[in-house]
Amino acid sequence: MSTIPDTPIDPRALSVLQQVFGYEQFRGQQGAAVSQLIAGGDALVLMPTGGGKSLCYQVPALVREGTGIVVSPLIALMQDQVDALTELGVRAAYLNSSQTLDEARAVERAYVTGQLDLLYVAPERLLTERCLALLDRGRIALFAIDEAHCVSQWGHDFRPEYMGLSLLHERWPHVPRIALTATATAATRQEIVERLDLYEAAQFVASFDRPNIRYRIVEKDDVRRQLLAFIKNEHAGEAGIVYCLSRSRVEETAAYLAAQGINALPYHAGLPAPVRAANQSRFLREDGLVMCATIAFGMGIDKPDVRFVAHIDLPKSVEGYYQETGRAGRDGLPSQAWLAYGLQDVVQLRRMIDESDGDDVHKRRMGAQLDAMLGLCETVECRRTRLLAYFGQQIGPCGNCDTCLTPPEAWDGTVPAQKVLSAVYRLWKERGQRFGAGHIIDVLRGKKTPRVDQHQHETLSVFGVGADLSEREWRSVLRQLIAQGLLAVDHDGFGTLALTEASRAVLKGEHTLMLRRESPKAAARASRSEGRAKPAAIALDPADEAVFLALRAWRASVAKDHGVPAYVIFHDATLREIARARPGSLDDLAHVNGVGDRKLQAYGEAILEQVEAH
Ligand code: ADP
Ligand code: ZN
Repeated sequence: MSTIPDTPIDPRALSVLQQVFGYEQFRGQQGAAVSQLIAGGDALVLMPTGGGKSLCYQVPALVREGTGIVVSPLIALMQDQVDALTELGVRAAYLNSSQTLDEARAVERAYVTGQLDLLYVAPERLLTERCLALLDRGRIALFAIDEAHCVSQWGHDFRPEYMGLSLLHERWPHVPRIALTATATAATRQEIVERLDLYEAAQFVASFDRPNIRYRIVEKDDVRRQLLAFIKNEHAGEAGIVYCLSRSRVEETAAYLAAQGINALPYHAGLPAPVRAANQSRFLREDGLVMCATIAFGMGIDKPDVRFVAHIDLPKSVEGYYQETGRAGRDGLPSQAWLAYGLQDVVQLRRMIDESDGDDVHKRRMGAQLDAMLGLCETVECRRTRLLAYFGQQIGPCGNCDTCLTPPEAWDGTVPAQKVLSAVYRLWKERGQRFGAGHIIDVLRGKKTPRVDQHQHETLSVFGVGADLSEREWRSVLRQLIAQGLLAVDHDGFGTLALTEASRAVLKGEHTLMLRRESPKAAARASRSEGRAKPAAIALDPADEAVFLALRAWRASVAKDHGVPAYVIFHDATLREIARARPGSLDDLAHVNGVGDRKLQAYGEAILEQVEAH
């Protein structure tokens, strides 16, 4: 599918990579994409979050003559991006609505007089006649369209302004363009090509695997307690994101965690803009904050040391889920993606789809996306194998997900399924009644409740036929029946259950139904709420660790002086390498990954002092 031209890597690109960014080599497809742009061709780059997309346009912008124009929807993050580039000695600026007129004028002048390597612009601004005319007055090295999946009308990040971007090609047919995204189902990719007129572009598709992220999906029980235990036992003091479906859930969860002594903040689109900006900025700058957020938070957040991403509600699609979890562990160190999901999630999401505006086609699409997500939750296969298959990529069992580490059991659930289905059938046929999952389970387990009394349900032939399974086990059976489309959630808004066309075959015993059950070991662990010890970061010996800590303290004070996040100065990974290598001279230091010319000049002496002092 991808057409990767056999361009050798441009030597100028390699020297920019080494001198400006301080990296020895291009990763994966970076070199090929960069060379394609330098040679004047268009490119479509699909790499997972953390894959290294930015270098794909930053390096060619520095090699080619003129300014690289970067279209980015994320005004709030432009400042950080520009700060990080400035630290590297790159001449970068942005134009957006947060600036004063004078500031904008100064940037415009710098562009026109050829003093910028990179210029970040929001799409709605770029497409104004004034801005287009401005671009004509300078020299454009390339156009980079970041977060290109924002053109996808069906995607979760759709931005109408992105539709207008095909204009760039019409107006400047000879300027190379590069579109980048971490969202890459075949359908989204096709939409990007069509809407941005990238038919001629070479496609660079990286592996979407993120092997350092451990995937875990647990059964929801008391989710707040589960989340708290997960954070306390496995990620104490570390940075993480907790995704929730609604604004009220975000606020509740943040307040709960804070009350339990966790440094947690809320983020959702309903908060006043200054609060949102302040919380985001704290998350980026301080160590070990937990952000409770809706999906409004995260696109473009390139904090490298997010150690976990937790979902306490079922995401609506695998595509969104993968992108959200990808925000963990950009630095390549061990990280976790943790999702808790239960029967109520399935009922609620099915209902939301039914009640959503939009035509049948739209609802069917959303339904199919939810089905894929449920399939991932209920699979007995390796989670990663399932995830990557969704993006058209194949790998074997990964060894770093819950199913690989503690394989669940597949069991024959035909008879319990028949009991559920016939309970639903009898209530409807004999009494003309429909109920939600809770009552059906009470009936099956023969529990005397006020509702059972009220409707005299103990007289039903199915009453008490399911006493052999616990309530929790029944919830799991019902969840899987709904997930597989063998039970439908009704449109009435009460979550009542009904049979489907497919139920009949199971009722008649025409096929066996295999269900997933967590291995007893995993279940016991979940109920004791103690997780597996988290995978350790690359260990330093105690003496090196002391140097590392000293370097971190030094970095914190520099970052504070410059008003930028610490990782903009140096990443943890770079500091660790310095602590281990103990460079004795600037020359030695220059060989450490992540130390480029500019940073060597600016910080080299100070680092050597720190190393020597320890
Ligand atoms: P993306 O935009 O694809 O999510 P980034 O461009 O933010 O990813 O890169 C992810 C991390 O990997 C960054 O910290 C970046 O500095 C680092 N990185 C990118 N390319 C290389 C490389 N060739 N060698 C070493 N580190 C790299
Ligand atoms: Zn696996």
